[in-house]
Amino acid sequence: MLVGQRDAKPHNLIRVNPDLQAFAEAARGFMPPDEGIALYEAAIETVADPNVAGPMLEVGSYCGKSSVYIGAAAKTAGRVLFAVDHHRGSEENQAGWEHHEPDLVDQDLGKMDTLPIFRRTIHDAGLEGTVIATVADSPTLGPVWTTPLSLLFIDGGHGEEPARLDYESWTPHVAPGGTLCIHDVFPDPADGGRPPYEQIYLPAIESGLFTETRQVGSLRVLRRSS
Ligand code: SAH
Ligand code: MG
Repeated sequence: MLVGQRDAKPHNLIRVNPDLQAFAEAARGFMPPDEGIALYEAAIETVADPNVAGPMLEVGSYCGKSSVYIGAAAKTAGRVLFAVDHHRGSEENQAGWEHHEPDLVDQDLGKMDTLPIFRRTIHDAGLEGTVIATVADSPTLGPVWTTPLSLLFIDGGHGEEPARLDYESWTPHVAPGGTLCIHDVFPDPADGGRPPYEQIYLPAIESGLFTETRQVGSLRVLRRSS
């Protein structure tokens, strides 16, 4: 289907500048290179559509890796990316869990704090004018947000409740014709946790408002009907 059509395009038309690509690959975080490039390409295609205006927003920035991929694309079109994260880590980032990185704990507070590394990543990528750090609890901010989004990327808490709340509070803000990207979508439970699939991907498809345009690894790219 559409996946094949996309792949038939000359790939290098929308390549990240090689320095920034190498930088993004080296940045800390959880975004495999091919999925990061697909995210970048989804953002480039979004800004290429003159009918889809508005900023981009990601839920779950961690140390800024995905922010660099999306921000690089936003910058080419003079758009901005709101990078929403409370910077206290998801459940799976806490001590004792699989994705814990002990040096990211604020020793005074005994809590995770990824904001300093995030700021450094965005600074070093030359994206301080493009990526707007938004330190917030996602389901608290989403319902009071009012600006339509050209692109929404959801990669926040992966538990059932956090995933459901991110779907409910953010997907209504995707502009007609805009893009919804979802990370860590695993239809087969053997590959990973189910909530992003069950609480975000499936409801988006079942709403009839979104159509899938691409899959790369656990990344899904959907387009909202216009
Ligand atoms: N996109 C990142 C990885 C994100 S990890 C990358 O490319 O590396 C998930 C992030 O979601 C964590 O940083 C965590 O702090 C954030 N998060 C989890 N629940 C959240 C919530 N309720 N509000 C804001 N951020 C949240
Ligand atoms: Mg992820």
